[in-house]
Amino acid sequence: MRSMVAELPFGNSAGVTAGHSGPSAARLTVLSGPSGVGKGSVVAEIRRHHPSVWLSVSVTTRKPRPGETDGVEYHFVSEEEFSRMVAENKFLEHAEFAGNHYGTPRQPVEDQLAAGLPALLEIELQGARQVRETMPEAQFVFLAPPTWEELVRRLVGRGTETEEERERRLETAREELAAESEFDVTVENTEVHLAAEQLVALMKGS
Ligand code: 5GP
Repeated sequence: MRSMVAELPFGNSAGVTAGHSGPSAARLTVLSGPSGVGKGSVVAEIRRHHPSVWLSVSVTTRKPRPGETDGVEYHFVSEEEFSRMVAENKFLEHAEFAGNHYGTPRQPVEDQLAAGLPALLEIELQGARQVRETMPEAQFVFLAPPTWEELVRRLVGRGTETEEERERRLETAREELAAESEFDVTVENTEVHLAAEQLVALMKGS
């Protein structure tokens, strides 16, 4: 695991074309990690306490969960609409996860970065790998559970998925945990507010 090295502050005006360790490395931050590790909670914490952090709103074919609002957590679309967006190259990355499709709309992220402003993506592993291919200068942050047992407890405890969905998510989580070494930095999600603060500090380069 690499250490939490300092990157550049929010105000830097460099673009996103430099090499991985170049001056623009902090522009785009990609948060990934296994399902159930609490990426959504960390992002919700950032929304509450750091409203100035710009978060990409993904498009998904998954149905909204109770409490989710279209346009806030996700843009909820049909399979047809999602396929159309793929065909029109509207996504920076997209992936299938547990039977649903997810994608990051390209234009808003590009606009944000073109303005010299930092952006945060919260996506699963396949998507993070795609972003590494096209934007290797981004900062890739792995959110890790304190232990595997804790991750299983969180996945099962959420209780919003069917048994079959949960099994698929656990299998995917096993594969995702093994990918930690592909990331620049690991943040352990022992407490949500601490993980959120660490992530914001990484975006700021402190
Ligand atoms: P959930 O259905 O629990 O909200 O999300 C399932 C998984 O999809 C999570 O690991 C989440 O990080 C990931 N995800 C959310 N949005 C995107 C996206 O735009 N692209 C990709 N590749 N994964 C996403």
